[in-house]
Amino acid sequence: MIFTACEQDLLIPNVTEQLTHDEPMTPRLVQGNTPHVCATYRPSGHDENHSAKMKIKDIYDNYANNVNFRNNAQVYTVPVIFHVFWKEDEGITYGDIQASQIDRAIEILNADFNQTNDQSFIPQNFLNIAGDSQIKFVLAEKDPNGVCLSEAGISRVESDNVFDGSEAIPCENSYGNEMKREFHWPRDKYLNMYLVNYISLDDDGDCEADSDLPSDSSSGYASFPTDESPSLDGIVMNYHSLGDTGEAVDNNNPSAISHEVGHWLNLDHTWGQGAFGTCGNDGIDDTPQTSGNDNDDFPNSCSNYTNNTCGSDDNVHNFMDYACESMFTNGQVAVMRSVLTSSLSDRNNLWSASNLSAVMDCTGGSCATPSTSEITHTEYSTLIYVYALSYNGINHQFRYRVNGGSWVNLPATNSYYSTITNKQANSTYEIQLQLCGNNWSDTVTIGNGGGSCATPSTSEITHTEYSTLIYVYALSYNGINHQFRYRVNGGSWVNLPATNSYYSTITNKQANSTYEVQLQLCDNNWSDTVTIGNSGCSTPSPSTSEITHTEYSTLIYVYALSYNGINHQFRYRINGGSWVNLPATNSHYSTINNKQNCATYEIQLKVKCSEWSGTETITTSC
Ligand SMILES: [Zn+2]
Repeated sequence: MIFTACEQDLLIPNVTEQLTHDEPMTPRLVQGNTPHVCATYRPSGHDENHSAKMKIKDIYDNYANNVNFRNNAQVYTVPVIFHVFWKEDEGITYGDIQASQIDRAIEILNADFNQTNDQSFIPQNFLNIAGDSQIKFVLAEKDPNGVCLSEAGISRVESDNVFDGSEAIPCENSYGNEMKREFHWPRDKYLNMYLVNYISLDDDGDCEADSDLPSDSSSGYASFPTDESPSLDGIVMNYHSLGDTGEAVDNNNPSAISHEVGHWLNLDHTWGQGAFGTCGNDGIDDTPQTSGNDNDDFPNSCSNYTNNTCGSDDNVHNFMDYACESMFTNGQVAVMRSVLTSSLSDRNNLWSASNLSAVMDCTGGSCATPSTSEITHTEYSTLIYVYALSYNGINHQFRYRVNGGSWVNLPATNSYYSTITNKQANSTYEIQLQLCGNNWSDTVTIGNGGGSCATPSTSEITHTEYSTLIYVYALSYNGINHQFRYRVNGGSWVNLPATNSYYSTITNKQANSTYEVQLQLCDNNWSDTVTIGNSGCSTPSPSTSEITHTEYSTLIYVYALSYNGINHQFRYRINGGSWVNLPATNSHYSTINNKQNCATYEIQLKVKCSEWSGTETITTSC
């Protein structure tokens, strides 16, 4: 068995004797309707009664009970490297898939994990428990040595046997394992994705391929974070099952990648660890029992598709089933986020700032000379902000000189702006930017005013009215110093504090009054007036049908799915006691902590400035 690689010197593993195929086989062209059959399994000994599973249950419980943690809006960013195995045979190249197929797969993965995929056909009872993981996947930009990759997220490897003999069944001495041992990048820095032409199934468990037929092939398999071999961490996928473009144009399940990443973040199949077709559960509270579903169950459409294999509705739309893969539940989200914050398999290092800095930051070539178009600025009375918006999160440095004097270096930064203080009036500032070393850009010259103090258009001013206050927004000037002022019923102008935030707050709102609002960027260039008001609240109170909930052991999530992104607030009372207001929010859910059992909860909702809704009453379990 010989591995070759295009750009690296790699050791040739001495494993030929252990492998079942010594001779290269004819490349298999798996075409059309690639089945979604996943070959992920938990190693024996990791079932519900054993330590690894318990470890997961513990961190899940800790996590689910830690409301602050759960409500934390932190997005976890995970760098991914795709190892693309390819070969050329009689002038035909196999497996050297285009970067666009990988780009599309990452796009699908991110949509799936952040609920921007199509969920329109999910029935309401499951949509109510669908979760947004806020986990983002990015193509790594640097290799483990810190060298920028020529293609983001891709390491291409030319290899005869790995490609066409890829019985990647995860047995100890399988090609798949040898491939991973040889080519893995550190699991604490990357999610390793291995793309191969064929993954054989091994239903009888003898570590030999069942057959070479596409019908006996798998779309992929993943390691769990409870698996303990660092070199075997990651996901192996048949590239015909990756996304929906390029070599995967006929893929019935473009979200197969999301399914495998779910395993990699410790999700089991929805039917648990038993065989497909046998009732089971995955150990997560809000996913119902099922024996599993696949495309054969509903050949025509996922719309209105339901199935009941184990006494209750199946979550056939779950990514961890094989059917209409389009959602994770809140419980699954909690498991995945908990894994990313645990040290299991070093998952908590992946999204750390130090790791992202180590494997990302090659935009435009790490030391390329920036174009002057990357430099923008805003001028204030005593300072100038200089912006490098494209390099937010990427180390860079500005320098400037005044009236042709000496260059002054500003501190290097990862922020999108730097500050020139002690601005001299009526002077000419020359500004340059570099990414590293001594590759200063051409000069941008600033002076004597300019665009930074332009009078804003009234279209820049938007607002939201609440019962006692008005938020005024200058969305275009988020991060840019600006100021609002207002007057009520033609009275005196009141200046709000200058701010870099995208909103300012008018407090003590007077009912039935007319508010005039103006905006400026710097001294005395107030915009034209935007007039607000003459009304009380025009938002009707919501229907109680907008209030849904999920009950957990120590808390209740209350959902206002229709008002995701819209300011709203819940209140509740227990057994007829005093009303307790939950914080107003734009999120689709709020959390009632310290749940009392056997209690009657009355729940009300209001939206923006509306009155409280009617009461939704629930009785908690005993
Ligand atoms: Zn699976």
